[in-house]
Amino acid sequence: MAEIQNVAVIGAGTMGSGIAHVFARSGFSVTLCDVEQRFLDRAIDSIRKNLGREASKGKLAEADVQSALDRITTTVDIESLASMELAVEAAPERFELKAQVFAALDRILPPSAILATNTSSISITKMAALTKRPAQVIGMHFFNPVPVMALVEVVRGMATSDSTFATVYEAAVLLGKTPVEVNDAPGFVSNRVLMPLINEAAFAVMEGVATPEAVDQVFKLGMAHPMGPLTLADFIGIDVCVDILRVLQEGFGDPKYRPCPLLVRMVDAGWLGRKSGRGFYTY
Ligand code: NAD
Repeated sequence: MAEIQNVAVIGAGTMGSGIAHVFARSGFSVTLCDVEQRFLDRAIDSIRKNLGREASKGKLAEADVQSALDRITTTVDIESLASMELAVEAAPERFELKAQVFAALDRILPPSAILATNTSSISITKMAALTKRPAQVIGMHFFNPVPVMALVEVVRGMATSDSTFATVYEAAVLLGKTPVEVNDAPGFVSNRVLMPLINEAAFAVMEGVATPEAVDQVFKLGMAHPMGPLTLADFIGIDVCVDILRVLQEGFGDPKYRPCPLLVRMVDAGWLGRKSGRGFYTY
């Protein structure tokens, strides 16, 4: 098992900023990399705000806010990551883009470094095959909001070595997370099980079985879910849900994953959930 101290996080968006936050809070040195400085500045602002919120709730000492921030360096130059022991890629969910980032990381990082990806749906095995170090490629699937959610799905590709798995599993524990081991398959466990639930809930609404409010109440009160599937779909983004359902449909070759026409229509209408102000609910 390798010792990790220097971590690169590629992509400073919703997930990358959260991932940088939790590594820095846990004492790792983090280099956050994005394509433009303004995205990095926005990420640092949001990390500062979120660390401050943790301090105000007593989860973190005030003094630790600044020391966590001091452990984060930002860069727009991926070439500057040459001394990193672990890279966590959190660029947008597009295979060609991730493939480009992985090829660059494979060329730049030391041969011993581990390349992890936060992808929600792309095959880890396929990403690994793009590199000269498939045994050191792994999925490290965090959940949004990263500083709050306890789970990390640690996804083993076909070639992932036991040592890579052990290192990343241990790193997740050091972050205060609960890692869960899963093998590489479309949607891993989280989205493979969640997306059909959301899809079926959408079918129930489309067929007039119940309103979105009623569907959500059933899951909150009957199954003790903290939020119903349609509220959750609005959080995730209806477009993201449809994209993941299509990955499942294609990956398994099984029509049971076909996106509900109501979800597809909502995307056409621009009703993407919280981020667009309207989804199953209005915001
Ligand atoms: P996002 O769009 O918020 O952030 C992506 C960031 O990557 C942007 O800041 C963008 O400028 C940057 N980027 C683009 N090209 C880059 C490049 N070549 N090099 C470096 N940075 C680049 O996306 P997100 O929601 O943070 O998602 C990132 C990844 O995490 C995706 O693979 C997504 O599937 C996965 N994921 C997302 C969630 C979620 O709830 N948002 C949950 C789990 C996993």
